[in-house]
Amino acid sequence: MKLSVINTGFFKLDGGAMFGVVPKSLWNKLNPADDKNLCSWAMRCLLIEDGDRLILIDNGLGDKQSPEFYKHYYLHGNDSLLGSLKNAGYSPADVSDMFLTHLHFDHCGGGVKRTGESTSLVFPNATYWSNRGHWEWAVKPNAREKASFLRENIMPMQDSGQLKLIDADGESPIPQFGILHVNGHTEQMMLPIIKYKDQTICYMADLIPSAGHIPIPYVMGYDTRPLITLVEKEKLLNEAAKNNYVLFFEHDPSIECCTVKQTEKGVRLDRAFALSDL
Ligand SMILES: [Zn+2]
Repeated sequence: MKLSVINTGFFKLDGGAMFGVVPKSLWNKLNPADDKNLCSWAMRCLLIEDGDRLILIDNGLGDKQSPEFYKHYYLHGNDSLLGSLKNAGYSPADVSDMFLTHLHFDHCGGGVKRTGESTSLVFPNATYWSNRGHWEWAVKPNAREKASFLRENIMPMQDSGQLKLIDADGESPIPQFGILHVNGHTEQMMLPIIKYKDQTICYMADLIPSAGHIPIPYVMGYDTRPLITLVEKEKLLNEAAKNNYVLFFEHDPSIECCTVKQTEKGVRLDRAFALSDL
């Protein structure tokens, strides 16, 4: 099995929204805000090559939205989904599985492209994976998440016939990883837990989006059920510290991976490193 980071570029989000109840005097030291109070975040995806499967986990926010939409997100950096895939030696047609942790636009927008008036899937031969509970939640979004669930990202997957919905109680349909289902950020987000070179890599998605979010109360304002996130984070972080798991951050602007350790203050970052160092 081979793992590669697929960087799809950086965007900016309001620092206050990203750190919830944590005061700016604290979070600004972790990820300094610009003059609009925005911080820079990565959209870091993961490619797994194994046997006849080529599995991509999440795909960034894509390029089919209007300039008006992108104006709010200040995209920057030189990386792109297809550019990074090409650097890894692949074209979109090679991807066999497009695994989506959840359907917020910055995780799934890169899976659908616009050609003139119509949309089509970027990965013509891939199965697109979501799960039933999350899908039903995303297609009838609540007012709080409405701006994150965009129909043009979601419906084309179903219309194409390439969508498959995972059963939360069942086994992972992808043998290369197990799936941890969590419910604090949104309904049934899925975190891939990958065994790789005798290590366990946890793809953190939006449960712990960056290394700055490791302390338990550092929960995003976006989360629909923050008290559930607290419990889910604590459980995973204790397990990670005990078993030396590697956390892979989708949104940290610089840190790809880290291990964590128990301290007097609770679980904290131990060692930060690149995935390629494993
Ligand atoms: Zn999200």
